[in-house]
Amino acid sequence: MTDKRETRAWVDIDLDALAHNYHAIRDWTRHNGDGPVKVLGMVKANAYGHGAPVIGKKLQELGAEMLAVACLDEAVQLRQAGVTIPILCLGQTPVELAGDLLEYDVTQTVGDLELGRALSAAAAAAGKELAIHIKLDTGMGRLGFTWREGSQAATVEEIKALCALPSLRAEGMFTHFAAADEDVDYTELQGRRFQEARAVLAQADIHLKNYHCASSAAVLNYPWTHMNLIRPGIAMYGHYPDPASEIRGEPRLVPVMTLKARVTSVRTMPVGTKLGYGCTATLAKESRVAVLSIGYADGLPRSLSNKLQVKLHGTPCPILGRICMDMCMADVTALPQVRVGDVAVIYDKDLNRIAELAGTITDELVCRVSGRVPRVYWENGARIV
Ligand SMILES: *Cc1c(COP(=O)(O)O)cnc(C)c1O
Repeated sequence: MTDKRETRAWVDIDLDALAHNYHAIRDWTRHNGDGPVKVLGMVKANAYGHGAPVIGKKLQELGAEMLAVACLDEAVQLRQAGVTIPILCLGQTPVELAGDLLEYDVTQTVGDLELGRALSAAAAAAGKELAIHIKLDTGMGRLGFTWREGSQAATVEEIKALCALPSLRAEGMFTHFAAADEDVDYTELQGRRFQEARAVLAQADIHLKNYHCASSAAVLNYPWTHMNLIRPGIAMYGHYPDPASEIRGEPRLVPVMTLKARVTSVRTMPVGTKLGYGCTATLAKESRVAVLSIGYADGLPRSLSNKLQVKLHGTPCPILGRICMDMCMADVTALPQVRVGDVAVIYDKDLNRIAELAGTITDELVCRVSGRVPRVYWENGARIV
């Protein structure tokens, strides 16, 4: 009997692959940095589309020391799913929601003194202490206390003032690289700025439990960035973050997600038949055309129209015509055995290539798998939830 979730389009999520990647990354960082390296699992955006509650709990079970999310709602979802390890909220949380940060025991990123003061006041009013990580902007130009040549003195004073606030407990400091996947010099400049900030603050007797800056590309390419905590995202989900690590193929990563869809119709059509919206494909010979029940509303980029090859019975089959909202068509002329109900693999491996075809990055492909697509979890060869 087929699982009800597998009637249209769905993703298989392989938790054994997640465990493999987690351990592979851990082993990769062992003996680097300044002490044992802890893992903060990046589970923002519904764990990159893989389903945050299950992924978050699995990472906790695997021994991750911390998780991180983009916003408070994502953190609350994890707590409600039973995650008990520390959760870092990376985005700004409006001070009116400070009560929720405290109630759900969420560690808040603070990148400016004004927010720090407001959060401290709110925590004091609640009679509690709020855990924070300090965010430094060493060159990303997005969030955080600015640390670059000329701005250091003012920033040190601000961070000292932040750390002196009565109802905040600073447990870490971090920065984010703008180009760890392509620009060594810029990454090293950001790294020097971060280490300088850390040293200057240490002179002011500010020592924190966690220092971190490495997302996947830095984890895989620059051991000096590991410090005592790493923040892998896409690599944990089994995809190489940059061409260099992909060519090296080490550590070996295994894709966690496989996107699948059913064949809902198969017809033989004569030469000259036009297919789909805009008639962008015309059959050059009599062909067998399969309709697949997946479209751009499921997260399959429309920009892959007439470009993607899906797999049926292990054989690549080109998508014909434009991808529609809920369906698309594939040429299965080479596969006379294809029947209604067969399962097409839309993508699993090689997402970097598919992302390039779609004019985007792998991260976006996995994140955009929509809420309509059920997540089916596998562990030890069996469905679990
Ligand atoms: C998303 C994110 C990461 C993880 O990035 P990957 O490239 O997916 O490993 C790390 N740190 C921060 C601040 C992030 O926003």
